[in-house]
Amino acid sequence: MTDRGNVILQVENVKKYFYGSRKGLFSRERACVKAVDGVSFSVRKGETFGIVGESGCGKSTLCKTLLHLIEPTSGEIFLEGTNLSELSKEEIRLLRNKMQIIFQDPYASLNPRMTVRELIKAPLDIFSTDKEEEKMKTVVQIMHLVGLNEEFINKYPHEFSGGQRQRIMIARALILNPDVVFCDEPVSALDVSVRAQVLNLMKTLQKKLDLTYIFISHDLSVVRYLCDRVAVMYLGRIVEVACKDDLYENPLHPYTKCLLSSIPVPDPESKTERIVLEGDVPSAYDPPSGCHFHTRCMFATEKCSKDYPGLIEVEKDHLVACHLCPEGGLHAE
Ligand code: SF4
Repeated sequence: MTDRGNVILQVENVKKYFYGSRKGLFSRERACVKAVDGVSFSVRKGETFGIVGESGCGKSTLCKTLLHLIEPTSGEIFLEGTNLSELSKEEIRLLRNKMQIIFQDPYASLNPRMTVRELIKAPLDIFSTDKEEEKMKTVVQIMHLVGLNEEFINKYPHEFSGGQRQRIMIARALILNPDVVFCDEPVSALDVSVRAQVLNLMKTLQKKLDLTYIFISHDLSVVRYLCDRVAVMYLGRIVEVACKDDLYENPLHPYTKCLLSSIPVPDPESKTERIVLEGDVPSAYDPPSGCHFHTRCMFATEKCSKDYPGLIEVEKDHLVACHLCPEGGLHAE
């Protein structure tokens, strides 16, 4: 399925369920939201792996689960071959410097009472044994790297623009020299004019520092610009994974086709037909049986409402979970 030698992060059947109160007065069964429901994929070293889907499909929960910011319900996560589920809390904490995150809203993620110096230096204070002088040198270096003037070092977050605040977030994520950076909608809170600057900065830093990105977004144009491979999520499950060009030129899953048809084309002559999905996204609290997409899919058959189609490789490096795809996939007789 994947060139394992080059894999930095392997995710196998990861689930994250949130349990609520009992379903009824006499019921033993508890309400359960299946935010992430059996997700598997691998990420290769140095690539940008995109995860797309509508709001509420479980992208951000998946991101936090992989980072162990919230405990997975089940499944295994391997970082460079190390199984995180076999590690103690302290061992995972020590591994955090290898996996960092850039959050969506830099204003909400930065403590307004801390200066830029304190904000960027905070990870070093936790993980590094360097002397204060050395730490300050590292802070100034990383500020230069992300395009922040070192004169800003004693300023507070409210004194910066949205783009500058996201640069502070990037500096803080990169100061421990991580291998994998999770980017949870890092540009969606920014003005369009600033987005391109931040995306280009991320691309430059990836090359310079040999970073691997996991890029979560609902913006398909941004994902196309930045990512090498893309996974499409629907209601807690991955329905398609492929290389960027393959996915955008030749989408195979009906849901991916609908998503891609919604990208605006800046050409008045374009004849691209938009596929409008019927109905609302079902609730993860009570997802449809079988293929979760069957309540909105124009190709749904009886089988779709009964059996969940597993993710199979239908073309090289192109995996799809749909009963329309040939059984056995690429390896079918
Ligand atoms: Fe549609 Fe059935 Fe394929 Fe699901 S499995 S996407 S319902 S055709």
